[in-house]
Amino acid sequence: MAGRSRHPSKPLTRCGDCGGTLVYPVAVRTGNEGRAVITRRCPECQVVDIVTCEAVAAILWLRREAQIRTDLQACLDAGP
Ligand SMILES: [Zn+2]
Repeated sequence: MAGRSRHPSKPLTRCGDCGGTLVYPVAVRTGNEGRAVITRRCPECQVVDIVTCEAVAAILWLRREAQIRTDLQACLDAGP
């Protein structure tokens, strides 16, 4: 079995190991019955795991990550 697989009761965005909230998706694929299979990584404890969730939750998470990136880029573009 490759990697660890979890069905989280905690929020998707919380690390299953350290509880950190900086986890981010590194890969998303379609699972069975309209679910998404997300490979995610925690930058705090370096753990990589696999979770499944409702596809809509994955979409919302990816959208949030994209928004964060946009906001960060806007900060960089604004300069000091
Ligand atoms: Zn962690």
